[in-house]
Amino acid sequence: MEKLERIQQIKKKRPGYGEILDFYQMVKEERDRVKASLKIKPIKLRKEWKELLAKEGFSLIQKEDFPLDIEASVKLFQTLCQIGKDANPHMSDQVKKIKEALDSKRIDLKKILKEGVKEQRIEQMADESGVDKKVFSFLIQSSAKPSIEAGMEQLRSELDPETWLKGYCPMCGSLPSLSLLKEETGKRYLLCSYCGYQWRIERLFCPFCNNKEHESLQYFCGENEEAYRIDLCDKCHRYIKTIDFRIIGESDPSLEDLATPHLDILATQKGYKRPVPNPWAA
Ligand SMILES: [Zn+2]
Ligand SMILES: [Zn+2]
Repeated sequence: MEKLERIQQIKKKRPGYGEILDFYQMVKEERDRVKASLKIKPIKLRKEWKELLAKEGFSLIQKEDFPLDIEASVKLFQTLCQIGKDANPHMSDQVKKIKEALDSKRIDLKKILKEGVKEQRIEQMADESGVDKKVFSFLIQSSAKPSIEAGMEQLRSELDPETWLKGYCPMCGSLPSLSLLKEETGKRYLLCSYCGYQWRIERLFCPFCNNKEHESLQYFCGENEEAYRIDLCDKCHRYIKTIDFRIIGESDPSLEDLATPHLDILATQKGYKRPVPNPWAA
């Protein structure tokens, strides 16, 4: 289904989400626009990396190994700030603060990007300059995303998505943000929160603690929302949201995630944590 059509559909069903969906749409459009003209260096794989992957279960590369188009990322950051200014009062306020911190050189955008978008560094810099960590981190991550995804595409053919079967990304080692059910038989895949790679996983499996026992793995769906479910693990008390593409058809997983925050609220109320929260959730 066309993305815009899908957004209209969700908005109709849940009018309260209109603002955030419009914002998402604008950010996504800008990211796609940047993607078309990116200049990133080819990633040179070393032979031993693939051996380590096969033998030791190391990811192919590390997060910071993704080459970024710094100029394009900085430009995108500025564009996203512009969009954020009109999104809502909190965002607008934060964007102003971030701009001030950039102007007075308290935040060095290029440096953060060159260091490979490290969450810890981002938080540290946000703290030092008194800006909202979540907003700042979201803007940085989104600015680097087109380069990261392009890097992932470059290496895609090096990996077999069907045979890894672990809870972390074979490409970059990050945790999954969502799980997806596909094809008639409902093959289950995990979606990397960092690079967007998808890999196969067993149906009954907690990616966060490798639990496979059905006694301690359960799930619930939203009311009249069989396409979305929350997979809970009673061993580590964490959860992952699962989107059933067999019911709604292939769609943008981040968009579907964004359209179902009520399920995250339910899971949290039950006492489960989400290791990689939706960056859009307020
Ligand atoms: Zn990854
Ligand atoms: Zn678990």
